[in-house]
Amino acid sequence: MFVDPLGLIIALPSAPIEPQRDDYKNDKQYYLALRVYQTELAIHNFNMTNYWRAIEYLMQCPVFAELYIHLMNSKETYYIAFTDRDTGYYDFLSRTVHWNPVLGADMNGRGDFNSAAMVLAHEMGHAGQQDGYFGDKIKETVRSYVRTNKDDFRDELENHNMPFHNTVAINLGQPTRDRYTVVTFHIMENSTDFGKIDSSGFFTNRNNWSPRPPVPYTPLDPFAFLGPNAAKLRQ
Ligand SMILES: [Zn+2]
Repeated sequence: MFVDPLGLIIALPSAPIEPQRDDYKNDKQYYLALRVYQTELAIHNFNMTNYWRAIEYLMQCPVFAELYIHLMNSKETYYIAFTDRDTGYYDFLSRTVHWNPVLGADMNGRGDFNSAAMVLAHEMGHAGQQDGYFGDKIKETVRSYVRTNKDDFRDELENHNMPFHNTVAINLGQPTRDRYTVVTFHIMENSTDFGKIDSSGFFTNRNNWSPRPPVPYTPLDPFAFLGPNAAKLRQ
């Protein structure tokens, strides 16, 4: 379930609600509810920390920053749905990015893994296509794809998204994608971790970006990225 309590244009799942003692018949029930809540809260914090880490990292790239600010200022609402499964995709029907915050992706089948942050940038590229950021022609292709669900349109959207993906990748020093093929995934240390995995399964050039100051990690003020909405939200 997604809520948009702050009126953000990119809506993030809200934190779980703490159970109240009065709502439970006995202490055991309440204790169990509290345990579930603590687990959900830990997962929520993990996801959100990795989300803001990814955004802070990606905002170093002006090409991504421009798209992100465009989506923030869109009249449409775009959603981020966190998942812990081996998947990452953009659902044009619900305008939702499905994203695993620590899942790296090998885009070319050579063991070069993009960070989860790059996957997020890629999926936000699709949101930009739908929002008209890349012009009316590709926006029309999105409409055709939504209407027909035909592979031809999907392939056109993927091919169109590749230059954006690679521009961001090159800017951030990550592996580029040279063809649209089946990707393989790997659980990384965090949303910005990327690198090459050799045949025995070990990273040979793990390349881990650190936010500044590096430790301890404190997410940047999320309002800093919200553009014109920031003033409204700070009140
Ligand atoms: Zn794609």
